[in-house]
Amino acid sequence: MYDVNSKCADDFISHEEILDTLAYADENKENAELIDALIEKAKLRKGLTHREASVLLACEIKEKNEEIFKLAEQIKKDFYGNRIVMFAPLYLSNYCINSCTYCPYHLKNKHIARKKLTQEEIRREVIALQDMGHKRLALEAGEDPVHNTMEYYLECINTIYGIKHKNGAIRRVNINIAATTVDNYRLLKDAGIGTYILFQETYHKESYLTLHPAGPKHDYNYHTEAMDRAMEGGIDDVGLGVLFGLDKYRYEFAGLLMHAEHLEAAFGVGPHTISVPRLKRADDIDPGQFDNGIDDEIFAKLVACIRISVPYTGMIISTRENQATRERVLHLGISQISGGSRTSVGGYYEPEPEDEKSEQFDVSDTRSLDEVVRWLMEMDYIPSFCTACYREGRTGDRFMSLCKSGQIQNCCHPNALMTLKEYLMDYASPETKAIGDKLIEREVLNVPNEKARAVVMENLRYIEQDNRR
Ligand code: SAM
Repeated sequence: MYDVNSKCADDFISHEEILDTLAYADENKENAELIDALIEKAKLRKGLTHREASVLLACEIKEKNEEIFKLAEQIKKDFYGNRIVMFAPLYLSNYCINSCTYCPYHLKNKHIARKKLTQEEIRREVIALQDMGHKRLALEAGEDPVHNTMEYYLECINTIYGIKHKNGAIRRVNINIAATTVDNYRLLKDAGIGTYILFQETYHKESYLTLHPAGPKHDYNYHTEAMDRAMEGGIDDVGLGVLFGLDKYRYEFAGLLMHAEHLEAAFGVGPHTISVPRLKRADDIDPGQFDNGIDDEIFAKLVACIRISVPYTGMIISTRENQATRERVLHLGISQISGGSRTSVGGYYEPEPEDEKSEQFDVSDTRSLDEVVRWLMEMDYIPSFCTACYREGRTGDRFMSLCKSGQIQNCCHPNALMTLKEYLMDYASPETKAIGDKLIEREVLNVPNEKARAVVMENLRYIEQDNRR
């Protein structure tokens, strides 16, 4: 039975409701009148329901699809301007007792080197990340109650926030770890995490059970209800995601939006971010065994449809995607990207020897952070290292109301420019710095309020003279 307010995953991600939604979308995929009405509704920038959005995703009318892409680009600009938030993943441990059939961390994989960072190794990794210029991390780990305990995670977070190195400090630590209890989420919140990220992998329960045949992650309901527990534990920034390629993308899309609707209905705040990972080649995994892979065109359409359906939710793309794909979806809705990423445990401090591979999947975008930052600026994007919202307590519904009011432009643009300036001064290559300084010069004129513009200009001068406030 479909019930957006229910606490049970079988109700708020009702299989019957998804099948009904897909049938409705199929019936209407060439209904130009309805599609026009839905595009008009999306233009109000208040989002679309899973049923409405599913019609647009299914739409096969070329001109209407072009309108959808155009609208996604416009909504992206309206809500996020040309800022792109930068982050890097930090792999803490690849010990895992699960059996995810698509992930090389699975328990039975005996030829992957198992590693868990000590606090000293974490220090080395974080300093290497700070030396690139990163301020925002996403912690990653497998699930293992013996090696990867909550005490371990709390100690890691504490270590990371405590590292001061040159001008660098990690200002926001997000975390992507297995579903856990309300009490543990409360501990993570108290430790100062930013976003709690957990990918659903697939919303299709039957497939989920087959793809996770054993281990704690096998429990579909416990996994799917994790965000409810996280919110009960006080974490109000949660990040959803689907691993595209495992099941049919239109099913996943409807499930993802239903999940967002459920969080909004039950807690008054939707997801802070949505990630769109696609399945990659990895040790012991042949992506060929999964036959639901999506091509770049469908991937772009998915990103565009998510953008117009939940305009106020950030969207994340990782280095699983190559430069060309990242470029396309940046225009259509992505607001955060990683750069200079390593998916191996300990890979930032020193590259792994060939016989000790521990990485999670192949990275497609292998450029350095400096190269990614330069590339973004060459496309007129402002790479942002800002974490002010989190630092000033603007999380959850306080962040959402700022975003929904459109006011986020007024504070994010100046902050992005100032943190970019700091990055350019501290870490950038001369070529990147030259491009960045010109960009800042142009962009500072786009701060709408005259007084605010003067303050930003003064702050930029201070940073230039190496006087930080
Ligand atoms: N242990 C946590 C969990 O179970 O959710 C964190 C998982 S892992 C470090 C982060 C994500 O990597 C997973 O949720 C999964 O979606 C993704 N992943 C696993 N195998 C992958 C592959 N072969 N290609 C792309 N992404 C993959």
